[in-house]
Amino acid sequence: MSVREEGAAPVYVFCDFDGTIARDDIGDAIVRRFGDFDRLHAELMDGKLSVAQYWRASLATFPAGLRQGDVDDFTRDFQLDAYFARFVEFCRRRRWPLTVVSDGFENYIRPMLAAAGLDDLPVFANRALFTGDAAPTAHFPNADEACGCFCASCKRNVLITQIPDDAIVIYVGDGLSDTCAAEHADVIFARDRLAAYCNRERLPHFPFNSFFDVIALLETTLAGRGLQLRHQAQLKRRRAFISE
Ligand SMILES: [Mg+2]
Ligand SMILES: [Zn+2]
Repeated sequence: MSVREEGAAPVYVFCDFDGTIARDDIGDAIVRRFGDFDRLHAELMDGKLSVAQYWRASLATFPAGLRQGDVDDFTRDFQLDAYFARFVEFCRRRRWPLTVVSDGFENYIRPMLAAAGLDDLPVFANRALFTGDAAPTAHFPNADEACGCFCASCKRNVLITQIPDDAIVIYVGDGLSDTCAAEHADVIFARDRLAAYCNRERLPHFPFNSFFDVIALLETTLAGRGLQLRHQAQLKRRRAFISE
């Protein structure tokens, strides 16, 4: 494992949204509110539906004529992690680009970030189209066949196409849709299902509860031996980039 001083390599940060930047899974909450969550989510968990199939089927159960404004009204009561804005500032001060990657929908992510004054963060996610009289439809601009992940929006792909070859990558996430990106990251912050996956796959990672912990751990690391490139992640990035 090679060691780099801060500043020696450009650092890129990728954060999941649902359950990470937002404390709750907003996508699930929206399906619970407007669609047939119990049946469809059980089918997703049983592996009967891919994420893309799950989203398509879920949105088809939403009321006809549902508008973006209805979703905005519903999500207004949900909170972002209380320390996320501070983390964005932490990254900005160091000129570390931060990208939001989600297998949910930019339709609730962008408004929620904007409400926190963070509307300039780049977001890669799925997209819902509200079509007037019919139920909304799901679109997957970041789908990827080459990655083995089951996701509708492949986070690994965003990662490998957004960074230079010598980057150090920090990934923060909580779920199964984060696994393919986390495997390609040098520094992994994981909780819940992603932490369980990292433990099973022996992927070195930092557990975290909130972005307070992420900031504290990074400050400690930077004050000590600095961020380290993870050789396996770098190899995987090169391989993935070549196969795309
Ligand atoms: Mg998540
Ligand atoms: Zn993937």
